[in-house]
Amino acid sequence: METIGIFGGSFNPVHIGHMMLASYLVQWGYVDKLWLTLSPLNPLKEPGGLLPDMKRLAMLTLASKGAPDIDICDIELAMPRPSYTINTLDLLAERNPECRFKLVIGSDNWRIFDQWRQAQRILDEYGVLVYLRPGYPVVNEHVAGMEVVDAPMAHVSSTFIRNAIARGRDMGYFLPQGVYKYILDNKLYRPSK
Ligand code: ATP
Repeated sequence: METIGIFGGSFNPVHIGHMMLASYLVQWGYVDKLWLTLSPLNPLKEPGGLLPDMKRLAMLTLASKGAPDIDICDIELAMPRPSYTINTLDLLAERNPECRFKLVIGSDNWRIFDQWRQAQRILDEYGVLVYLRPGYPVVNEHVAGMEVVDAPMAHVSSTFIRNAIARGRDMGYFLPQGVYKYILDNKLYRPSK
């Protein structure tokens, strides 16, 4: 049975940090395939700079192009909101009975994981891979159903990249090639004049 890692985010835009982690999880054998799973607008984040779902999806498609084991998943875009991770995992499992799904989260989110809806069922029925985020050492390392992934990290965020592009910096080495070209061609994240 194939194991698929579900790595969710707003990917506004997807950057080299996301892709490094995805690539590591596949190549170091934590999962067989990794699905970058696009979340619709997160009510906790400022909607201001969030590009429409279709543009973020287009960038994810470009990013995953050269990576055979990294795919994209848009299932949450058509789900009722607010969408909870457990609902996403259940729907994925129902639609793909031949696959086993594991959730990929950062050590920052792991600290508040017990507040997630049906957290215990996520651990029992799916499993959680926790990767290290700087400043957030892993707590509760021996919980059944979770595994720590010691992946090397690039300390970049989408916010950093959006701000840098708005200031006219060259972000060519911070983004997958096709994604950067798409941003430049479509003049994304530039201040409106
Ligand atoms: P923003 O700066 O807009 O909040 P972000 O860079 O944190 O964005 P998200 O789309 O929110 O990106 O990220 C999706 C997931 O990727 C989140 O769970 C986030 O913790 C994680 N992530 C963000 N930056 C990195 C990085 N450099 N390396 C690995 N994972 C990251």
